[in-house]
Amino acid sequence: MKKTISIIGGGASALILACELDPKIFSVSIFEKNNALGRKFLVAGDGGLNLTHSENEGEFVLRYTPNEFLRQAFSHFSNKKFIEWINALGIETFVGTSGRLFPKKGIKPIDVLKRFEEKIKKNNVILNFKHEWKGFENNNELIFKTAEGNKVIKSDIVIFCLGGASWPVTGSKGDWRSLFEIKSVKTNSFQASNCSFKVDWPKNIINDIEGKPLKNISITCGDKMHAGEIVLTTFGIEGSGVYPLSSQIREQIKENEIAKIIIDLKPLLSKEDCLNKLFNLDPKLSYTENSAKNLNLNKTQIVLLKSKMSKNDFLDPVKFVNNLKALEIHISALGSIEDAISSVGGISLNQITENFELKKIKNNYVIGEMLDYDAPTGGYLLQSCFSMGKYLADHLNEIAK
Ligand SMILES: Cc1cc2nc3c(=O)[nH]c(=O)nc-3n(C[C@H](O)[C@H](O)[C@H](O)COP(=O)(O)OP(=O)(O)OC[C@H]3O[C@@H](n4cnc5c(N)ncnc54)[C@H](O)[C@@H]3O)c2cc1C
Repeated sequence: MKKTISIIGGGASALILACELDPKIFSVSIFEKNNALGRKFLVAGDGGLNLTHSENEGEFVLRYTPNEFLRQAFSHFSNKKFIEWINALGIETFVGTSGRLFPKKGIKPIDVLKRFEEKIKKNNVILNFKHEWKGFENNNELIFKTAEGNKVIKSDIVIFCLGGASWPVTGSKGDWRSLFEIKSVKTNSFQASNCSFKVDWPKNIINDIEGKPLKNISITCGDKMHAGEIVLTTFGIEGSGVYPLSSQIREQIKENEIAKIIIDLKPLLSKEDCLNKLFNLDPKLSYTENSAKNLNLNKTQIVLLKSKMSKNDFLDPVKFVNNLKALEIHISALGSIEDAISSVGGISLNQITENFELKKIKNNYVIGEMLDYDAPTGGYLLQSCFSMGKYLADHLNEIAK
């Protein structure tokens, strides 16, 4: 008799897992509360499905906070191996200028999902939609809420892939923490990551900065620096230039109630270069116009600088350059988890073994964003789910032989 495996949740990590569990050894069922697989996967594809990043493998794993728990899974199924895997699935890919990997132009997220589903179907995986996991029965059997009432399911192996708590409209609500706590499995509360950050801008500049990008900047928070682009909004700031600093910002807010970020508006120029450019004055232009022209500053950058400096400081080249190279912005809160790209929190990492098995509930495994780790955008979130899913499938296939 084949061993039975129940996968709870039908998102990215469940998809690859179900593709890779050996159908000759296991009878696999997926239980998903929605009426379809991969809703968040499709949302992730809205602005272009960034499947992974092409960065070299040594650097890749350092993007995760913490990263030790993922090392084994990532080296087993790295970004390079995933790219080969998805290409073999029939999805051609390309690397964008930022190093991010996407399906080739013309291939939609739904086409990628369909390829996963075809492989899952070929593996005879049983799909149970509208099944919401509600907790454990006495013998760790699983209780599901269905249209026909509660069902209790027993299986040899259970793999939880319930996702995090961002974008709850996709079904990933993180509302299952108490179901694990009852079993003495420690969980941590969810917080937004890769989200917007609140800045209390002076009211008089909002009209000038709302929706405006700051491009080619670098941002430092604590000991971490990241280069990129952000967008200024009425709420504060958001964008790929600040997302990788989510952990540092969150920690500082926790400790000091505010986080301090330092923006370098001209990271490619030294202070000396900037000063030299400032002294090259055109007498027909005002000081502000000269500064803007010589340093190639747009209106948004000038408005920001003026809002942070007294008139005298603005007119003092040294102080002007000091601010240009280190504009201090205070973040007072994280944006809402409902709009965040990802979340941290969930099952505490010290509750799982190196093979993602719950220490307190044997033969029950947990993978994907429901574990408490942080990853930046850029394909790192999906890659972590794919690495964990493939690693666990291969591990279970191996030990069942
Ligand atoms: C707007 C947005 C854009 C993103 N863009 C990218 C990107 O470009 N690149 C990238 O790498 N990542 C991106 N991500 C993140 C990525 O989509 C997630 O990290 C990934 O989907 C997590 O996979 P998962 O399998 O852990 O969970 P999920 O994909 O969230 O799947 C969890 C599943 O479990 C189901 N479920 C939850 N509770 C229950 C229950 N009690 N019973 C039964 N089923 C349940 C849910 O309905 C859901 O289908 C993006 C996310 C968002 C929100």
